[in-house]
Amino acid sequence: MSLPTLVVLGDQLSRTHGPLARLGPEDARILMVESRALLHGLPHHAQKVTAFLSAMRHLARDLREDGYEVHYRRLDHPDADDFGTALTAHLTAVGGEAWWTRPRDDGVEAELRAGADAAGAPIHTFEDEGWIVPDAVFDAWAEGRTTLKMETFYRHVRRWSGVLMDDDGEPVGGRWNYDAANRAGPPRDRTPPTRPTHPPDALTREVQADVAAHLPHAWGAPEPFGWPVTRADALEVLDAFLRDRFVDFGRYQDAMVSGERTLWHSTLSVPLNLGLLHPREVVDAALAHAERVGTRPPDGEDDADAATADAATADAAAVPLNALEGFVRQVLGWREFLHHVYRTRSATLRAANVLDAHAPLPPAYWGAPTDLHCLATTIAGLEATGYAHHIERLMVTGNVAQLLGVDPTALLDWFTATHVDALDWVMVPNVLAMSQYADGGGLTTKPYAAGANYLHKQSDACAACRFDPKKREGEDACPITAWYWAFVDRHQERFTTNHRMRMIVAGWRKRDADARAAILARAEATRAAFLAGEL
Ligand code: FAD
Repeated sequence: MSLPTLVVLGDQLSRTHGPLARLGPEDARILMVESRALLHGLPHHAQKVTAFLSAMRHLARDLREDGYEVHYRRLDHPDADDFGTALTAHLTAVGGEAWWTRPRDDGVEAELRAGADAAGAPIHTFEDEGWIVPDAVFDAWAEGRTTLKMETFYRHVRRWSGVLMDDDGEPVGGRWNYDAANRAGPPRDRTPPTRPTHPPDALTREVQADVAAHLPHAWGAPEPFGWPVTRADALEVLDAFLRDRFVDFGRYQDAMVSGERTLWHSTLSVPLNLGLLHPREVVDAALAHAERVGTRPPDGEDDADAATADAATADAAAVPLNALEGFVRQVLGWREFLHHVYRTRSATLRAANVLDAHAPLPPAYWGAPTDLHCLATTIAGLEATGYAHHIERLMVTGNVAQLLGVDPTALLDWFTATHVDALDWVMVPNVLAMSQYADGGGLTTKPYAAGANYLHKQSDACAACRFDPKKREGEDACPITAWYWAFVDRHQERFTTNHRMRMIVAGWRKRDADARAAILARAEATRAAFLAGEL
């Protein structure tokens, strides 16, 4: 009898969990496909494509070395049009059942089913073991709720998992959330430690050559490439983060520094999204590290009396509670939450556009010159590496697009193409719901919208910008502030019903009518110029 074929997708590259942790070469043959439909659809960043394909080819090589029969369809293979076509051709040739782990992104399961059906092959699917929170736990929590808030889910999961909980069932340190300590602006007195990079080996070089030959319209610089593509690389990224940057992860989580790409962020989204790390092992590693080196009070709340020179030195390696809790919240909270939101609500989210936003994506997003220095530096960094950190995504590229009323789907495509860690399951809720408020607040209590004041506080970009973040009027007033007020004005009816926006709308309405008209006129003129690539 013919062996079954296990399809291994590019975001399921794990041998520590899932079917590859259990099945040996004698149990199944392997099929891996570099789907042209996926790769050609958008001008994906060259480093994003390289990271995914290189990680796939590395896994295929390792499996072959371990005796598996691996059928690998490179992007120039005649059968690699899409997953379904490749699977039909493969099964027609070798027979046997089709096996796969439940895919994360919409559409893939249907493609695989159609492919197996066309070959008349029986199908067996495995549950996706790459998550911490089982579907049933989320579904029971979500049942009957009209809005889903991450903070409520996160507290539920903290209790359910026991992570960062005291023996008496209270959150460690007495609070669920230390975010107030995680909002420092750019540091004046320190530079972030360097992070490990993984220069291309021969296999990655081959991928780079294929990307250059077959995807000439890929966006972004292919070099220098340093993303992790193996399990060993991934573990090194995790270790280096915990060793070098974890202590200041919380404090500078919302800071933006021109020319500094990753600051104290972990860059773990890439190996996590490839499947090279399990989120539970990341959380456990963070907890174990904190246990080993000790924890200290949240930044800004140290007990001054206890801070003798010796204690301060001994304490320097200890992880502040705001960094520990903040990191756990990102992985156990946000990442798990948005996965389940996508799993249960992606179709509704994808269709949502309650703010009726239809403007095209501004040319600056693809690298056209712009005078908005915060945006220019974010895009330049993205172009060079495929990476922007969370606050750049949310409060620079996401914020500016939202204020201008850019079509959420156009923005979704742009985010998907340009970010090295982009997958549909994580982009749809982050871009459409969290960043663009396209669902009208199903996941957030208010839109993440801000004018130049916020950007000036969190970033050093305004200092080198031709616009002045403090001015409200005049040719050198930052247009982002005018766009912010035009956004509030445009949606004032909706926002008066939101308890966190009501006061802002009331403040706007109280302003002198001439002042409001001047701001709106400036917003419209600068918006038109920006959308035309002239600002
Ligand atoms: P850190 O700041 O070091 O955070 C640690 C980890 O927490 C991340 O690696 C990630 O796995 C997880 N995490 C934190 N926030 C989120 C979140 N909102 N959603 C999911 N996971 C989270 N994340 C992606 O993985 N892929 C994307 O395509 C993506 N697109 C985004 C688009 C927008 C508009 C926004 C606002 C956020 C997006 N995020 C995305 C979430 C988050 O910005 C990235 O996970 C993070 O910036 C990756 O960098 P890091 O690994 O250094 O993260």
